[in-house]
Amino acid sequence: VTDRCDFRCAYCMDPDQRFAPRDAVLTLEELRRVAGLFVDLGVRKVRLTGGEPLVRRNLTWLMRELGALPGLDELVITTNGSRLAAMAQEVRDAGVKRINISLDSLRPERFRAITRTGDLNLVLRGIDAAIAAGFERIKLNAVMMRNRNHDEVCDLVDFAVRKGINISFIEEMPIGRIGGHDRSEVFYSSAQIQADITARFELIPTTETTGGPARYFRIPDTETRVGFISPHSHNFCADCNRVRVTTEGRLLLCLGQEHSLDLREILRKEPDDDEPLRSAILSAMQIKPEGHQFEPGGHSVTLRHMNLTGG
Ligand code: SAM
Ligand code: SF4
Repeated sequence: VTDRCDFRCAYCMDPDQRFAPRDAVLTLEELRRVAGLFVDLGVRKVRLTGGEPLVRRNLTWLMRELGALPGLDELVITTNGSRLAAMAQEVRDAGVKRINISLDSLRPERFRAITRTGDLNLVLRGIDAAIAAGFERIKLNAVMMRNRNHDEVCDLVDFAVRKGINISFIEEMPIGRIGGHDRSEVFYSSAQIQADITARFELIPTTETTGGPARYFRIPDTETRVGFISPHSHNFCADCNRVRVTTEGRLLLCLGQEHSLDLREILRKEPDDDEPLRSAILSAMQIKPEGHQFEPGGHSVTLRHMNLTGG
């Protein structure tokens, strides 16, 4: 869906990138069928991400359908926030309880540079709309890069505290080829971020988890939890139970490896029989890799970009 994404983040845009033809993309009904099978097989949490999920027409239909699946405990979404000012209430009403919003900078010019065309004000209005819509949990995601935005760590925490929401800092992963920067120069570790924060805020470790890879801290006397997602410095592969399905129906078994399976072919060949799809999913789990081989600043291990993979 990134052909309709308003932003063009350095993370996921490649000058050679080509957009998929419409019939290559799974319909919302096909996505529902795939998700339903995963939930039947025991999946308890589904995240809609991308690409930018909120540019997909009628996505709230899919949200309502997924929200009604018996057995699904959590339906969550990750968005760049650019459409939230208009859509937050609709998304909340469709049954999404938790939302992650990407925010790498609070400086309009810098925000525009990092996201290529992004409008910070629009995203800030989107964050306010999400707060007003009454999501149970709102989390900002910030990918920190040295000499790009690392000097904003405390400002971002301060912003989250003032809004009464959570924030996670993510170490940049070497996913997809990029032309914009040398990854070894921009690597900024979770330990460095934590040191920056503790110069201004007290961080109390917690054992809380949202079932994902983040390690969480609380800031006393605030509503804010600060998380660290550290693919380099605290590899979390051993606990990873995530798989991803792209809009083209490819089942990706690891963020940092190429192992995958084409579900679309099976899905379309067998429109009325779920069994072949179910057994393909089950056997794909046998080839889920043990982990990624990211190195800080290392070369990309996958050619696939984050917008195709889903962060
Ligand atoms: N369009 C949505 C958005 O921008 O939030 C969802 C997709 S985006 C790929 C999901 C998250 O992955 C964002 O928070 C983004 O900052 C993060 N991300 C993108 N590229 C990354 C990279 N190379 N390393 C770590 N995180 C990355
Ligand atoms: Fe759009 Fe998200 Fe990709 Fe940025 S990271 S171009 S916001 S899909």
